Amino acid sequence: MRAARAFAARLDAAGQLDRVTRITCSLYGSLGATGLGHGTPDAIVAGLAGLRPDDCDPDLVRGGWTRLGTEGAEVLVAGRHPVTMTQGDVSLEPRTRLPGHPNALTLQAWGSDGALPLAEETYYSVGGGFIRREGDAPEESEALRHPLSYDTADELLALCEEHGVSFCDIARYNEVAVHGEDGIDAGLDAVWAAMAECVRHGLETDGTLPGGLGVKRRAPQVRRRLEEYDRDEHLRDTSTEWLHAFALAVNEENASGGRVVTAPTNGAAGIIPAVGHYYLRFVPGADAAGIRRYLLTAAAIASLVKKNASISGAEGGCQAEVGSACAMAAGALCAVLGGTPRQIENAAEIAMEHHLGLTCDPVAGLVQVPCIERNAIASSTAVSAARLALHGDGTHLVSLDTVIETMRQTGIDMMTKYKETSEGGLAVNVIEC
Ligand code: SF4
Repeated sequence: MRAARAFAARLDAAGQLDRVTRITCSLYGSLGATGLGHGTPDAIVAGLAGLRPDDCDPDLVRGGWTRLGTEGAEVLVAGRHPVTMTQGDVSLEPRTRLPGHPNALTLQAWGSDGALPLAEETYYSVGGGFIRREGDAPEESEALRHPLSYDTADELLALCEEHGVSFCDIARYNEVAVHGEDGIDAGLDAVWAAMAECVRHGLETDGTLPGGLGVKRRAPQVRRRLEEYDRDEHLRDTSTEWLHAFALAVNEENASGGRVVTAPTNGAAGIIPAVGHYYLRFVPGADAAGIRRYLLTAAAIASLVKKNASISGAEGGCQAEVGSACAMAAGALCAVLGGTPRQIENAAEIAMEHHLGLTCDPVAGLVQVPCIERNAIASSTAVSAARLALHGDGTHLVSLDTVIETMRQTGIDMMTKYKETSEGGLAVNVIEC
């Protein structure tokens, strides 16, 4: 959606938009292999129309490409210029892998003579909702403007020791340098509000997920049952089951085209909200300030993974998505449970270590099986990793840096069919009905 929106905006800014009579888009590599299941053609159409993922109405996005049909329908490009598009204008080319990234797309705008495109751009979807345009000079990254910069977990730990602070304080200090003091808490609260709304909606919405697998939404049924158990006080500890319900809720929303917060990706979006809700509901003394520390700690850990390995399933398999989210949540929960920086690092390491080698093999290219349950199980792993780390003093054999590097190497060695292509694993062993 972001790439298509950027393309439309560039056409407009260059004064070319009014000459455009047709727009085509090719989805390459992993984007092509799982594009239909991931709703990518819908996102392309929405982005061309000028919609943004953070504030669009998901109902306007869902089915946008299907509605084009083979005859075509009008799309108001950049929200103002009508162009007739057909479903065939978005093509899936999974066998073509561009060198820049396994998630690539090329957009072309055509004029009335149709001989050569008026404009053509290739974009890479590099994970976490970020895009990179082919040919752009590397921008000065936010990290370069961070006064307390670090490249590794060891460096982050050294900063914490030097200043007598924790991961979240370093992350906050750096974010303030980029975004200013005023924006930080408002931004964190907005992220949490979006996560909370996603959990709430997912827990209340019954039905069957789109895509043809017939997967039923389970979160509302689990919620109703847990509410019953909770009315009969002390009969059972429901905390782990609630944790699972929170994750199911988010990933069922994701699978049905609802709004989720990429954390660090959409497929793995359930773990951070689920563990955050677990903290608020079951940890005495938990509060909004704790949630801000939780999110900042998770962001610090994510930055290490993104910098030194990958958060993209198309690059590193599911270890890069769910493994990273689990490490983020484990370290962040450890932090708000009172863990020291070394215990936080240990928690993140434990969580990542036990996802090494995890492949990405979504059935039918849909982010449903195994993704939804996988988020619930990884949420449990995150809580276990945090609690295990809290029993130690932070000294341990395998460092977070080592496990991130191991994840990177394992991702390189992993066969392409296990990296968001739906060509291996469960995707070829489960019969689609
Ligand atoms: S298997 Fe993992 S990496 Fe692949 S789509 Fe599902 S959640 Fe994402």
